[in-house]
Amino acid sequence: MAKEFVDIDAISAVRLAMLDERGIRRTLVPTERLADGRVLRGGEPMISFCDNDYLGLSSHPRVIEAAIEATRKYGTGAGAARLVTGDNPLNEKLEARLALMKGLPAARVFGSGYLANAGAIPALAGAGDLIVMDELCHASMHAGARLSGARIQTFDHNNVASALHFLQQRDATSHALLLTETVFSMDGDLAPLEQLAETAGQTGAWMMTDDAHGLGVVNQTNPAPIQMGTLSKAAGAYGGYVAGPKSFVELLASRARTFVYATGLPPGVLAAALAALDIMDTEPGLGATALANARLFGSLIGRSDVASAIVPVRYGEADAAMRASATLAEQGFLVIAIRPPTVPEGTARLRFTFSARHTESDIRRLAALVLKTLADTGAAK
Ligand code: PMP
Repeated sequence: MAKEFVDIDAISAVRLAMLDERGIRRTLVPTERLADGRVLRGGEPMISFCDNDYLGLSSHPRVIEAAIEATRKYGTGAGAARLVTGDNPLNEKLEARLALMKGLPAARVFGSGYLANAGAIPALAGAGDLIVMDELCHASMHAGARLSGARIQTFDHNNVASALHFLQQRDATSHALLLTETVFSMDGDLAPLEQLAETAGQTGAWMMTDDAHGLGVVNQTNPAPIQMGTLSKAAGAYGGYVAGPKSFVELLASRARTFVYATGLPPGVLAAALAALDIMDTEPGLGATALANARLFGSLIGRSDVASAIVPVRYGEADAAMRASATLAEQGFLVIAIRPPTVPEGTARLRFTFSARHTESDIRRLAALVLKTLADTGAAK
């Protein structure tokens, strides 16, 4: 019997209406990030406190020049996957640089951080293996874990005993992989890396970390043998990387499907990332300034626990966070509300991020307004 024709657009409209009903529909707003650090949103100039460009390097003249020069020399696109003709020598230069920075034997550059996680995790673990991951790991780590086919257990956030409990469930013949972020993207807190590494060691598990929000800003000692990250945040460019043991990194070129079957990064992006990593080395004060700005904001709103450039302020329900975001926008501050399903139900928040380019007076004005929005909604911080 022929199936009834189902109109894809009509079904999509119903699904959108359901998202509207729950207040979790996402919409795009064209935003121009200007070279002077401001943004134009809907034509209005604003100061953004929700970028991940922590060091302001996406508009640094040397980074821009490097991108232009490489683009003039090699063109705008890679032309093919790296295993075909897309392996511009800038890739290798960037990989050597990243390995050095991470203190690990080798590194592989991917098309993005998401692709790095989605490709590297299945190259490490497969059916019959066990993945034990922090419940707040980024969506791309979850994607990689699911793609791997391994059994997945999530442990309570930053709870080493909970991680140990699950790692002990591994059977003797399988591999186990422990996953965590170094700096949690929605909460800004740090993982107890030393204790987790010890736990992984005790149980014979491998450990891999996601340093998307740490690079260039938070320099924790990281004992994990496999470390991934992104070039799209403090490095101001685009792309992802995985650093680790030599043979593992070599294996990624054959076994990470998001590497094998995706086009290489554009040469201009590779050159921009290289220039940005140079600046991180020569101007370490930039990361310290971003962190100091976040801490200043924290101290002004009564928070002494700020450990990274990310400071979340919780409003509870999604509409309370949306109202607070609108109040800040009226005063020229751009801070997007983060709602479920990105964060758990009842923990909708404004996620403030700080850059080396923010000024003290803007941070003080922002903090005073935030305190007012919290008082108005009676929300917990
Ligand atoms: N991991 C974390 C923790 C992230 O926050 C992000 C970016 N949102 C990614 C991975 C993905 O990186 P990219 O944007 O380069 O794909």
